[in-house]
Amino acid sequence: MEKIKISKGFIPKLAGMPDTSLIKAPAPKTVGLSAMDIAYIRPKLLVKENERVLTGTPLFCDKRDTSIQYVSPGTGRVKKIWFGARRRLQEVVIALDAAEAFIQFDPVPKSDPNAISKQDLILRLKQGGLWQSLRQFPAKDTADSNHTPAMIIVSLNGNDLFSPHPGILMNREKEAFEYGLDLLKRFSPRIVVTARYSSLDRLGPVVAHITHQVPDTYPAWDPGVVLFHLKKSVEENTAWSISADHLVMMGKFLLTGQYPIEKVVTITKKGDKKPHFLTRQGAPIKTLAGSFHENSLITTGQFNGRLADITSHLGFFENTLNIIDTPGEEEVFGFIRPGSDKTSVSKTFLSCLSNSPKQVDGTLHGEERACINCSYCENICPNDLMPNFIMKALHSDEIETALEYGLLDCCRCGLCSYTCPSKIELATILSHGMDSYYKDKA
Ligand code: SF4
Ligand code: SF4
Repeated sequence: MEKIKISKGFIPKLAGMPDTSLIKAPAPKTVGLSAMDIAYIRPKLLVKENERVLTGTPLFCDKRDTSIQYVSPGTGRVKKIWFGARRRLQEVVIALDAAEAFIQFDPVPKSDPNAISKQDLILRLKQGGLWQSLRQFPAKDTADSNHTPAMIIVSLNGNDLFSPHPGILMNREKEAFEYGLDLLKRFSPRIVVTARYSSLDRLGPVVAHITHQVPDTYPAWDPGVVLFHLKKSVEENTAWSISADHLVMMGKFLLTGQYPIEKVVTITKKGDKKPHFLTRQGAPIKTLAGSFHENSLITTGQFNGRLADITSHLGFFENTLNIIDTPGEEEVFGFIRPGSDKTSVSKTFLSCLSNSPKQVDGTLHGEERACINCSYCENICPNDLMPNFIMKALHSDEIETALEYGLLDCCRCGLCSYTCPSKIELATILSHGMDSYYKDKA
């Protein structure tokens, strides 16, 4: 196992770090399939309201490649089809039946993964709703099945500080994970499997498959950071990545011929000690979040998740909910308080002298201001970028300059926004810049 050294990033001392017990979440009455967390998709709806669907029935496909289908995570009736601004599809909601019935494919035996040809394997994954698990750099679009990537990065640790502990998944799904790894070898000559240092002791025999250990500094386990530190050639810029939970889904789907519905998630809120829940794909956020203070934000990541609408459902790529208090009022005499309870990168707060975990809240502590060239964003970026320079190039429509500064190496971790004392949403600006460039080029 190699160690990847990443000198920048952030080790936040946040309260609420999950323990590793697993609780069964209440059974939901609805499930949803979101089109909002699937980057670059141009969805084409395949069902109507009130239509009956099985688990695995295609609900929509991608107009760019209609063989890539997105399937129902439950059996029942299409209760609602949600459209957002400009009638963009947001979510298809299914009212669940009491019994589950699946679209059934032929299983591919574990003893002979080559029983299915590579072309049939690709088609099966596209029809089964799981091809989207494979993402292609630099923009993390759905992988191009005509491309042979120089490497595939398998990340065990999710995208958030509080993502589910991989040991829980690996103890339950070792066989499906190992089968998934065998399948990935059909797509690329190099499979890189990464895990955070602090995860290793609970992985059991799966630890033998870890090729690279990364530090616990956020976001060292992000595949975009791993790729940045491993790549040596231009070809590697179009590597693929997949998370361990999606690889397990892929393995289970091919072994059983049925779309896997189980999902392990974390739900972190102040005072809760046992945040790991066993639920199902597309579970309603309201059911998962339970009771919480009315002035709270629900996000799907501490630094880079979406602000979740309580009436929506968990997306395919989301496996954590952070429920964050928002006091809602300006801090009284905040400018002269020592800040011993603040989570901050800044050494100007007294909290930098203490190791005790701090509770995050949703207070912004001020409005956006002009860049003061403090370089905090440069000093924290895990991929050695200068987000302030990239932002200025994008604001001046100088896309070539932004690319020269490494725009496409941004992994959208959100640390630069978090650290910026001028409250500039750098990560959002860079992310929009990358999206516009990528869509124009496509
Ligand atoms: S530019 Fe910002 S969002 Fe992008 S990798 Fe660096 S710190 Fe993360
Ligand atoms: S952290 Fe904010 S204020 Fe400081 S250089 Fe970066 S963009 Fe400018």
